[in-house]
Amino acid sequence: MSFCNTTCPYCGVGCGVSAELDQGNVIAVMGDGNHPANAGRLCVKGTALAETLGDEGRLLHPRAKGQTVSWDEALDTVAAKLRDTRDRHGPGSIAFYLSGQLLTEDYYVANKLMKGFLGSANVDTNSRLCMSSAVAAYKRAFGEDLVPCSYDDVESAELLVMVGSNAAWTHPVVYQRIVAAKRANPNKRVVVVDTRRTATCDAADLHLQIQPGSDAFLFAGLLNHLAGSRLLDDAYIERHTEGLEAALAAVAGIDRAHVLSATGLSESVLSTFYQWFGDTEKTVTLYSQGINQSSTGTDKCNAIINCHLATGRIGKPGAGPFSITGQPNAMGGREVGGLANQLAAHMDFADDEVDRVARFWNASDMASSPGLKAVDMFQAAADGKIRFLWIMATNPAVSLPDTAMVKAALERCDFVVVSDCTEDTDTARRADMVLPAAGWGEKDGTVTNSERVISRQRSLVAAAGEARPDWWMVTEVARRLGLGAHFDYDGPAAIFREHAALSAFENNGQRAFNIGGLSGVSDAEYRRLAPVRWPVAPGVSSELLADGHYFTRTGKAQLVPIVPRLPPAVEHHALNTGRLRDQWHTMTRTGRVPRLSRHRDFFSIGVSPADARAAQLEEGELVAVANTQGQVTGLVTIDEGLADGQVFAPIHWSEQFSSAGAISALVPALTDPHSGQPQSKFADVQILAV
Ligand code: SF4
Repeated sequence: MSFCNTTCPYCGVGCGVSAELDQGNVIAVMGDGNHPANAGRLCVKGTALAETLGDEGRLLHPRAKGQTVSWDEALDTVAAKLRDTRDRHGPGSIAFYLSGQLLTEDYYVANKLMKGFLGSANVDTNSRLCMSSAVAAYKRAFGEDLVPCSYDDVESAELLVMVGSNAAWTHPVVYQRIVAAKRANPNKRVVVVDTRRTATCDAADLHLQIQPGSDAFLFAGLLNHLAGSRLLDDAYIERHTEGLEAALAAVAGIDRAHVLSATGLSESVLSTFYQWFGDTEKTVTLYSQGINQSSTGTDKCNAIINCHLATGRIGKPGAGPFSITGQPNAMGGREVGGLANQLAAHMDFADDEVDRVARFWNASDMASSPGLKAVDMFQAAADGKIRFLWIMATNPAVSLPDTAMVKAALERCDFVVVSDCTEDTDTARRADMVLPAAGWGEKDGTVTNSERVISRQRSLVAAAGEARPDWWMVTEVARRLGLGAHFDYDGPAAIFREHAALSAFENNGQRAFNIGGLSGVSDAEYRRLAPVRWPVAPGVSSELLADGHYFTRTGKAQLVPIVPRLPPAVEHHALNTGRLRDQWHTMTRTGRVPRLSRHRDFFSIGVSPADARAAQLEEGELVAVANTQGQVTGLVTIDEGLADGQVFAPIHWSEQFSSAGAISALVPALTDPHSGQPQSKFADVQILAV
């Protein structure tokens, strides 16, 4: 018997896991007591990880149009199709769609191949659906995509404002830490801002049940209130920020009456929140998909960040605007340029940065401008402009909005490659080639969680069938394209060293992301690597923003003028989508564990008690929700936490699990103009009897 430490593959908490091994099998998992994210805790999904291993439902061999083929045949075909498409139709006709489930090393080589050697920046990721609005907002405010908080701050804050986050279900270990911290410090206050009353509200001193999409009014009004009450930190503003005047001018008309009207809150609830925020130095605002998944998500994030910058509540223990990511490695993907508008090591498509990355890679065909973001990428495929698409570790036929458009895109592409662990997904069903990928417990690499902690995921058991890591597939295709010398890695440690070295290359403090101190790790040191928060570089403090230095051209943070706007009024019901407590994404892993389905084993359509009465609906009755994009059926759940006029449906179901299909079929492909993040939490739907 032996133990091996690794990291949970689900949410952005990034809990350390200690796996107990016996004769090549994982017989149990428990929380890693030494990991900074969880200190031994795990949620129910994490404790069930051992039950997700095994061959059942796994894709075991490469397959072309349903026929098993050898790895050589599969990789030769992928390389030939990639080369042929690019030669005939140009770099804009090829695209990779990646995933926050990939390890950083997988992500790094996929980006390097496309952006450095195939001349295309059409590399985007399902992380676009998760937190790209937070990224865009951080870049506007701080000059770089950097998260200025840690989970310790969430604990040490005296006021914790949770916005658009049902952490009790979606980031359970963070929620457990909050509950424990509140028990230890009864003066700690928790405010939840959410259109629904969720399980997270059980820990709240105050719940602001706002109207859908009104978050920016709440925080624009807060900035106006803080200024009017002389509660701004003038010294901090003067020394470390720019743009206050314009930011205040933008919110000057957002008075109390405006906010009450937009949010639907009562005067007493709003006043209490504004007073608590104004009075509490140690305030952390923690926000998630309820903010990000909106066509105005970036502005909402900046409205929050403005309040922290103007009060100097940032860069100090227990203070800051903290975006928590949905996926285990959304952050690692951001670090290697996994978004179509970024280059590796947090560099952009500015000429000097394109040149720097090209020189570091000795790139033969460097992309010089941003590629297509997720929704635009699939729309381009549906329009016949993208002809070769390689999808890694994700299921866009379920998760992207307007799934009919996504399925049409997959049908129209000349060649679709899907590399995945799972044999049967809505996306794999439409692929020309499927490649078996090694999954959690089988592959080696690193992930970065929401608080910038880099942790190792370690191989615990032999890969199922012929499954191989994604980085290996990419490098094998690169070799077949004649690029082997640039992709000559003998394992993930070699890729990690190169990634770390690039982060430090010509980085004289102008970029926060710097892990150059890890660029010399040996294979043995990489194997043993303990969780570490970046930056990790000689002479660089890991306490980002503590000195008030930002990564903009002037070194000062930018307050962004935000003019809030509400979503259009709905004709019928406002659809909200989200996660259930015990499931993950499209259930390809958690769906294999019977005990995780006990919480809810059916596709539910949540309605308020009054709406149920008005429509004469009973709990458990079959019902449909529909709009011009389609119709999805499920079983009624009467949810007292829902406001009248709102409907909630989980994101997990797909063709694979239900004939009803995915709820994203009804979500329009509307995106935020800055981030490209889809508006997955708001659609107009009608409730129909079936
Ligand atoms: Fe895994 Fe997230 Fe649960 Fe931690 S909180 S065990 S990372 S799913």
